[in-house]
Amino acid sequence: MTEYTCIGCGVAVQTENPNELGYAPPSSLNKETLICQRCFRLKHYNEVQDVSLTDDDFLKILNGLGTMDGLIVKIVDIFDFNGSWLPGLHRFVGKNPILLIGNKEDLLPKSVKRAKLTNWMKQQAKQLGLQPVDVLLVSATKGHSIDEAMEAIDHYREGKDVYVVGCTNVGKSTFINRIIKNVTGENDVITTSHFPGTTLDMIEIPLSDGSALIDTPGIINHHQMAHFVHKKDLKVITPKKEIKPTIFQLNEGQTLFFGGLARLDYLTGGRRSLVCYVSNELKIHRTKVDNADQLYEKHVGDMLQPPRKNDLDEFPQLVRHEFMIKEGKTDIVFSGLGWVTINEPGAKIAAYVPKGVNVMIRPSLI
Ligand code: GDP
Repeated sequence: MTEYTCIGCGVAVQTENPNELGYAPPSSLNKETLICQRCFRLKHYNEVQDVSLTDDDFLKILNGLGTMDGLIVKIVDIFDFNGSWLPGLHRFVGKNPILLIGNKEDLLPKSVKRAKLTNWMKQQAKQLGLQPVDVLLVSATKGHSIDEAMEAIDHYREGKDVYVVGCTNVGKSTFINRIIKNVTGENDVITTSHFPGTTLDMIEIPLSDGSALIDTPGIINHHQMAHFVHKKDLKVITPKKEIKPTIFQLNEGQTLFFGGLARLDYLTGGRRSLVCYVSNELKIHRTKVDNADQLYEKHVGDMLQPPRKNDLDEFPQLVRHEFMIKEGKTDIVFSGLGWVTINEPGAKIAAYVPKGVNVMIRPSLI
């Protein structure tokens, strides 16, 4: 087999997986000058495309960041804050300042004050061991607060380079592509360069003073629901617009099913309301705890969907996690799917997620 390499960045070309590094459509192998899809977009549209990478490569990048001198911009998905967090970043960045940006602000109810949300992000960051120089909320698709983000980046970078890091799917490419339009206009000035110690190419966007904004590949978080559902169902669980919370008045011994992907048993704590923040498209089904196992067995794949019937073979079994809600207003978070808020302490619940998906409790976001 002939090995093909991209003349743009030197990566080994593959024609199998469009989302991985080095992809080029099979037809391009016959061309005289072979260039990977990522370089093609960069060259012709001044547009970055996210590539994902293995945990090993990611570690190398993290290690590399510590040896750099510049501002680190960490992007998280506010709808999947914990799932997109990139734990451990603070141990690698050395003395470099971190600017924390929460993207997809447009998904949260407009009635919630943005200052309250950024405050919450600050507190969470602190608990997770990170002390960002500042915290911002943006919507990359709607263009909300992008100018503010650019101003903050320019302020905190103090003339140095900027490294943008984030999980896949947080909207990093959408965010950067907006910045590219603002900084470069239509000029064809973006370049790729190797990041020290890796074979991965970083995309460099020149800034006015000779420094650059550098896009690093997105890390895959293996504990998200997204990896366990069919591509088509991803549309169902990924909210596209403002989430309309659904409130359930539950008695002890009642269960909520979120499609067939997750389940919440309300065990003890008297009658109370639970507020669900999930995609508006995802159907929530209420039943009794006593009937829940049977109902699931019988109806997963039809009434309780996603997953679809055809995908059941590969869908992991649900695993039970029990929680006591001891303090204040609390969210039960189903990684990548959303969360359920319990307003008062003193409740016992059991949360079920597919094996491999994270579930946790946290102080309420909203
Ligand atoms: P990347 O993998 O981090 O580069 O993420 P992308 O830029 O490819 O975006 C991933 C998904 O999130 C896409 O479906 C985007 O349309 C969506 N997305 C990105 N930014 C936003 C945003 O500000 N709001 C909403 N609602 N969706 C967004």
